[in-house]
Amino acid sequence: PAGPELEALQHADVAGLLPLPVFESDKYRRGVVGVAAGSARYPGAAVLAVSGALRGGAGAVRYVGPAGQAVIARFPETLVSDQGPHKAGRVQAWVVGPGAGDDAATVAEVLDTDVPVLIDADGLRLADRDAVRARTAPTLMTPHAGEAAALLGVARERVEGARLSSVRELAARYRATVLLKGSTTLVADPDGGPVRVNPTGTPWLATAGSGDVLSGLAGSLLAAGLTARDAGSVAAYLHGLAGRLAAHGAPIGAHDVAESIPEAWRDVR
Ligand code: AMP
Ligand code: MG
Repeated sequence: PAGPELEALQHADVAGLLPLPVFESDKYRRGVVGVAAGSARYPGAAVLAVSGALRGGAGAVRYVGPAGQAVIARFPETLVSDQGPHKAGRVQAWVVGPGAGDDAATVAEVLDTDVPVLIDADGLRLADRDAVRARTAPTLMTPHAGEAAALLGVARERVEGARLSSVRELAARYRATVLLKGSTTLVADPDGGPVRVNPTGTPWLATAGSGDVLSGLAGSLLAAGLTARDAGSVAAYLHGLAGRLAAHGAPIGAHDVAESIPEAWRDVR
């Protein structure tokens, strides 16, 4: 239900926000997105986050972490580094957390940078709240209901039953933009204002790895210069459309969603 509390982006709004290359663009000016994700146990999360990041409008994707071989095997255009985030080279925005396991040091290192950071999945559990609150550059957190409940210290059902107040509460507590995933994805800014509701979702997106694709996509939009609020809501919009286009009423895997992101862009433009 639309009201003053809520707003939904339309096709034309999203079209106006897409980062398009201009005649004289080069890859660095389009933005470099860093992905610090994956672990020996969950290399696929790194591959999926990179798959989203490559289709989000940044000019290059830099990967740091233990899944470099798996990432390169699938996406040879990725710049893989075996150094930590501080030594990885220039990055305009970081994605940290998908499949990250218990690598708290990398999360802390990413939070310590002065560029926009998206925190997802394991990164949400590992991030120090004061370190997030102390950041000067924008932070975008992307929990699903279970992760949001853990951050708030309440049961998952409490979040499911009060999604709007939960996303606002998290944004205020962390002084970060928060994207609460689910059947209706919400995006809230820390200083209040209307919460954005994503109109494009489809339950076919409820499949393993789907959130990892979203985090890469949103991180890429951050690197291309969108605000955390716009990056999160445009990513959710494209991700939902891509899910619909990929599924066409049949089951899909998360990698199918990533492969349909270019078609979702064309549809929006
Ligand atoms: P994750 O739980 O991190 O893998 O993220 C799941 C992704 O799928 C998020 O982008 C959710 O918003 C989306 N999603 C999950 N369930 C639904 C649903 N029932 N309807 C629409 N989108 C969904
Ligand atoms: Mg997830």
